[in-house]
Amino acid sequence: MSMLKRRGLMYVLSSPSGAGKTTITRALLKNNQDLTASISATTRQRRAGEVHGQDYFFVDTNKFREMVDNREMLEHAKVFDNYYGTPKGPVEEALSNGKDVIFDIDWQGTQQLFELAAEDLVRVFILPPSRMALEKRLRDRSKDTLETEEQIRGRMSKAADEMSHYTEYDYVIINEDIDKAITQAQLILDSERLKRRRLAGLSEFVRGLKDGL
Ligand code: 5GP
Repeated sequence: MSMLKRRGLMYVLSSPSGAGKTTITRALLKNNQDLTASISATTRQRRAGEVHGQDYFFVDTNKFREMVDNREMLEHAKVFDNYYGTPKGPVEEALSNGKDVIFDIDWQGTQQLFELAAEDLVRVFILPPSRMALEKRLRDRSKDTLETEEQIRGRMSKAADEMSHYTEYDYVIINEDIDKAITQAQLILDSERLKRRRLAGLSEFVRGLKDGL
């Protein structure tokens, strides 16, 4: 494969919170040197342990609006009560350097990317194995953030809303076992990288093979 150039792809992972998306994204980034994460801008508060420029670019609403008005966002959406968006520059730079880009964005952003670049997009949706598992993960997580029962219920109803969009995705992974889910996410990436339309210079390559016969 090294003799062929490949068009970079945009790999989107969406899921309700608590379905394991962050763990899968981290594993893919660790195992794929030529994969880079799109770092979103958001107006939401930074959580403990989050690093500006690594997890998100934390900006205020004015700055966010300015980025949207200056057409610096590839897509943007309101999720929960905050704004989130994908800065365009780093994505274009990575793709033009032959890297693939992974996005952790919601269904609204995925729809916008699809309108912009359907050919380059791979859309993967992660589902939890059961309602109980999702509820447990959300409750465990809420212990760190000291969420109230009302906030937890709010997250669960948002999760139900997000899940209803699974039909807009190309692939669905049911995350019953995290190692298996990571393997499946990797298989999707590997297969999509082999798509014929993503391989540049293929016809010259085959012509070269035939010429010698
Ligand atoms: P959280 O605040 O928990 O980090 O993320 C909340 C939701 O916002 C998640 O579903 C995440 O996928 C989504 N999200 C994060 N960044 C972006 C973005 O740049 N665009 C869109 N549309 N959604 C995003």
